[in-house]
Amino acid sequence: MGESRSPSGEKLYEGKAKILYATEDSEILLTRYKDDATAFNAQKRGTIAGKGQINCAISRHLFEMLESAGVPTHYVDCPTPIEMRVKRLTIVPLEVIVRNVAAGSLCKQTGIELGRVIEPAIVEFCYKNDDFGDPLLSEGRIYALKLATPDQVEEIELMSRRINELLTDFFKQCRITLVDFKLEFGITTDGKIVLGDEISPDTCRLWDNTVEDPQARVLDKDRFRQDLGDVEGAYRRVLEKVAAIA
Ligand code: UDP
Repeated sequence: MGESRSPSGEKLYEGKAKILYATEDSEILLTRYKDDATAFNAQKRGTIAGKGQINCAISRHLFEMLESAGVPTHYVDCPTPIEMRVKRLTIVPLEVIVRNVAAGSLCKQTGIELGRVIEPAIVEFCYKNDDFGDPLLSEGRIYALKLATPDQVEEIELMSRRINELLTDFFKQCRITLVDFKLEFGITTDGKIVLGDEISPDTCRLWDNTVEDPQARVLDKDRFRQDLGDVEGAYRRVLEKVAAIA
């Protein structure tokens, strides 16, 4: 099968969920999506069968939807079901978290109850640095660390709010609530800020809005984090719903 061959370009970087390769075009990189799963800053590790292919397909659909709505992304195309060609970016070392509904670290850190609707949505920034456990940043810390300029922060926040509107509407059509998600941005060789990384059940909290039960409705990596079972089935259901609407 095409996806089992080794990409011919030099391996540049191996992350927790993807491997990055060079290609013959210096402006284009190849990402290979892995089945490996990690949580809690890689303290919990496992494998989710088929995840690489599922997340690659979900990300492809969502990047194509965002591009057609005018949001610039790094997406180019998918030469195989587990590989995505992307534009070369200099990654801005921020994890941008968007929250529509309270969950995860927001509940843990503030006592706000799980499931409370957050309006307007929160856009917040964490330091993309595993050595420090991706801590929440203030604007002052972003500038002191020179992670981005004030103009870049403003543009990234505006883009994130637009992406949130588009993704929330899209998932609503899939009968899924987009609870929260993480985005990463990068700068192209010609200086434009574009959306990078992936958009998948690894990076979003997604609740099936046709299901009441608070565990059964979970269609994202919380099934792996909290040992809720049938992680692969949940990811597959997201892909089926996304592919049916896309
Ligand atoms: N997230 C992510 N990568 C990270 C941290 C968070 O993709 O390194 C996603 C996570 O899946 C969730 C959202 O960002 O959809 C908000 O995560 P939160 O801050 O609540 O952290 P968590 O509870 O995952 O520790």
